[in-house]
Amino acid sequence: MQFHERITAELGQLKERDRLRAVPEVTSRDGRFISIGGRRLMNLSSNDYLGLGDDQELRRVYFESCRSGLPPLGSSSSRLLTGSHPLYDELEQELAGLYGREAAMVFNSGYHANTGILPALAGRHDLVLSDRLNHASIIDGMKIADARWERYPHGDYLHLEELLEAARGRYRQIFIISESVFSMDGDLADLRRLVELKKRHDAVLIIDEAHGTGVFGQRGLGLTENEGVTGEVDIIIGTFGKALGSAGAYAVMDRVVRQYLVNTMRTFIFTTALPPVTLGWSLLTLRRQVGMQVERRALLALASRLRSEISALGFEVPGESHIVPVTAGADSRALKMAAALRDAGFLAMAVRPPSVPENSARVRISLRSILGWDDIAGVAGCLGGLRR
Ligand code: PMP
Repeated sequence: MQFHERITAELGQLKERDRLRAVPEVTSRDGRFISIGGRRLMNLSSNDYLGLGDDQELRRVYFESCRSGLPPLGSSSSRLLTGSHPLYDELEQELAGLYGREAAMVFNSGYHANTGILPALAGRHDLVLSDRLNHASIIDGMKIADARWERYPHGDYLHLEELLEAARGRYRQIFIISESVFSMDGDLADLRRLVELKKRHDAVLIIDEAHGTGVFGQRGLGLTENEGVTGEVDIIIGTFGKALGSAGAYAVMDRVVRQYLVNTMRTFIFTTALPPVTLGWSLLTLRRQVGMQVERRALLALASRLRSEISALGFEVPGESHIVPVTAGADSRALKMAAALRDAGFLAMAVRPPSVPENSARVRISLRSILGWDDIAGVAGCLGGLRR
C-alpha cells in the first residue's frame, strides 16, 4: 500500500475509535482564560499551576531587568561546545542551594531529562523498576536504555519489594523510578517508603517531580521537600515548563553523578542549549515561587473542595493534588463529559489511551492558584447532568 494511503487508513481507524487528535486552535491565552477556535473558555487544562507563565507584572519585572542587556535569544550550540552561559551556572547553583544538594543540571525539557538520564546510567547488567503509571518520557527512557526493566503495579510497594528481593545479587545496580505527583491520576507516591526501600536494597532512586515542583513543599521544591527526603533521593527531576511558567527541566544530584551525566547523557550532549533569555526567566520564576506558600495552600484547598463536590455526585475522582481527574471509563464518555464542560464554558481535556491505560479515559481538570471557587463552581453542576 502506498505510504499516504496506509497512514490515511490508520488515521481513519483512530477516528472510528474516538482516538483521533488534533492540535487545538489556540488564539489567545491569558490568565484564567484561553480562546480556542474563537471561544473564550475558563482554562482548566493548564500546567501553569501558580499562574507565573501568564503573570504580566512578573513579565514586566523581567523585561525591566533586561534593559541593561537582553540575554541572547539563541544559544548557538550545545553546552559542551559554546552554548553554555553564566545564567546556566547561576540557575544550577540556585537549584543546588535550594535543595541543599551538591549539584544541579538544567536540561532542555523534562522529556530530554527522562529519555537521557536512565540510558546514561543504566546499562546491560542493570535493572530498572518503574511505577506502572510513570509518564511516557520515563517509559521511552527505559526503552532506550540497555538495562532490563520491569513495571510494578501503581503505588504497590509490596510488589516492588518482591521484585527487589527477587533481583538481589543478580544485577550490577538496581534503579527505582517514580513520579511524585502522578500526572494523570493526581495521586502521590509514598516517597518515604521508596527511600526506605532504596536504602534497604542499595538501589538508586530517581523521582520525577514534574507536577510536584511549585505546588508541594514549604519552598515549592516538591513532594520530596514535603516529605523531608530532598537529601535522600539520588536524583530529583523537576520541570520549568509547568508550575514555574517557563521551559526546560532540571535535576539535583551528587557532584559525581553530574560529572558522569555531563560525559554520558546523550540528550544533554547532542542538543542545542536553551536560549539564555529563557534561563533568566526560569531563574526569576524559580526565585519568585519560593515564597508562594499562600498560593500553594489555596490551590490545594481549591482542589480538595472540587474533588469532594464531584465525588458527592457519584463520580470516581482519584488523587489528592491540584490535578483532579474525573473517571469516565470509555473514551466516548470522557469526550462527552469534556464536551459538556466546554458547552458550559470550561476547558478540561479528555485524556484517552495511550496517555492512560485502556478503559480508564477521564477528564483531567488541572487547577491553578489564580483560580477561585467562583471560577469553577459550575463544573460540578455541569458534570452532575451526566451522572452515571
Ligand atoms: N515528566 C512528567 C511526569 C510529565 O508529566 C511531563 C510533561 N507532561 C514530563 C516529564 C515532560 O516534561 P517537559 O514537558 O518539560 O518535556
